[in-house]
Amino acid sequence: MSDYDVDLFVIGGGSGGVRAARIAAQHGARVMLAEEYRLGGTCVIRGCVPKKLLVYASRFRGEFEDAAGYGWTLAQPSFDWPTLIANKDTEIARLERAYTATLEKAGVAVVKNRAVLADGHTIKLGDGTSVRAAYVLIATGGAPSLGDQIPGIEHAISSNEAFHLRELPRRVLIQGGGYIAVEFAGIFSGLGSHVTLVYRGENILRGFDDDVRHHLRVEMEKHGINVITGCKVAAIECGTGHFSARLTGGNQITADCVMFAVGRMPNVAKLGLQEAGVQIGKNGGIAVDEYSRTSSANVYAVGDVTNRVNLTPVAIREGHAFADTVFGGKPTVVDHTNVPTAVFSDPEVGAVGLTEAQARARLVQTDVYKAMFKPLKATLSGRDTAVLLKLVVDGHSGRVVGCHVVGEGAAEMVQLAAVAIKMRATKADFDATMALHPTSAEELVTMRNKSGSYVRAAAE
Ligand SMILES: Cc1cc2nc3c(=O)[nH]c(=O)nc-3n(C[C@H](O)[C@H](O)[C@H](O)COP(=O)(O)OP(=O)(O)OC[C@H]3O[C@@H](n4cnc5c(N)ncnc54)[C@H](O)[C@@H]3O)c2cc1C
Repeated sequence: MSDYDVDLFVIGGGSGGVRAARIAAQHGARVMLAEEYRLGGTCVIRGCVPKKLLVYASRFRGEFEDAAGYGWTLAQPSFDWPTLIANKDTEIARLERAYTATLEKAGVAVVKNRAVLADGHTIKLGDGTSVRAAYVLIATGGAPSLGDQIPGIEHAISSNEAFHLRELPRRVLIQGGGYIAVEFAGIFSGLGSHVTLVYRGENILRGFDDDVRHHLRVEMEKHGINVITGCKVAAIECGTGHFSARLTGGNQITADCVMFAVGRMPNVAKLGLQEAGVQIGKNGGIAVDEYSRTSSANVYAVGDVTNRVNLTPVAIREGHAFADTVFGGKPTVVDHTNVPTAVFSDPEVGAVGLTEAQARARLVQTDVYKAMFKPLKATLSGRDTAVLLKLVVDGHSGRVVGCHVVGEGAAEMVQLAAVAIKMRATKADFDATMALHPTSAEELVTMRNKSGSYVRAAAE
């Protein structure tokens, strides 16, 4: 390894790269990491963390409205977007400093520069210098895609810009039906914007359980979000102080901000992948084996750039596993099954395991248990809302193979249900667990009546 300047060069200082660099250094490797923008990556700088802070801000509206039924009289609340954005930026800057300090403490040399591969062992930096590394880890993440090059697309923003708007737009048009689109619809709506969500598919949140998709849409509409499915934005025109979006089908929507959240692309362009012999997979991300090794023996890739499961905890696990495998003498494979996921919409979604449709396609017998009810909190407040909880069970083994929740605290509930599912808990185990009363989550252990049982026909 001494023929090289470093043992490991990490390209990208996001969730996966930072973890891998730190652990590899702790295993004794000489590590250098390059970050072209800000340390912390998407999650910390323009993803999970700032998004959740905006989500918290947006939820105060509901709390203020609900307070009256509980006897509170409030002065008319008012909201100041610049204050929220400034406070959010301060927190993000603090986190960025914390990430820098963590890497420095671990002995990782951080280069604030773009890095690309010249070959499998040589990394070219933006300042023209080169570094030779025994191993390279590509952890360059992904970036928003704006989709088709429609007329006026230059007027649309992505989630990156949404975090830095100068003022809260009065009317927002969001195109997209994935979790980022749905979350920003909730954020803007909660903060007082009038929101229209346009999605080309049949219903929002493709890939989630169908009951969840339907339930969330109904709840979002109750909040006043205008959800239009089955069409997309065909053109955006810039008017005086506003934008006018023409939808396929002819409808025209006027908005002060047009946001596209139509998907993300792995950051693989102009990285020197070909020069290093690194191949791209069918999913558009860097192709890797179960140890995150690419087609080039000493080059590895983790996180969103591999387009496997694009979530922060997964990128972190993959980075850690890579470091343990290559520098810790402990080959480690990351298990990508039963990864819990949340959508911080209003109301929130939490999900882990199989959807009902997936279970019905894979299992011989699928049993479904569902509960939909008005949460206790909504009684005095008079809020028109319902919680949905759903368990998908393997009818043969009795194992709970899926848990889906829409409602306040859904993400927190599903994180814990995920432990049980990972441990292969059965419906009988859920039933044997004492309820915690009064909560919404208690329904997960008190649902006794099947809402459906499906036996797969031999031909299916
Ligand atoms: C709006 C939004 C909300 C999200 N919310 C959640 C959530 O609630 N929960 C969740 O789990 N996940 C969420 N995610 C996804 C999560 O942010 C990503 O899965 C995670 O950040 C992936 O980590 P990574 O290390 O693969 O890449 P990233 O965090 O994207 O880091 C890659 C880094 O590489 C740098 N880079 C790229 N190319 C180069 C180069 N050539 N040279 C040097 N540096 C380079 C980039 O600047 C970036 O900092 C969200 C994402 C977005 C966009």
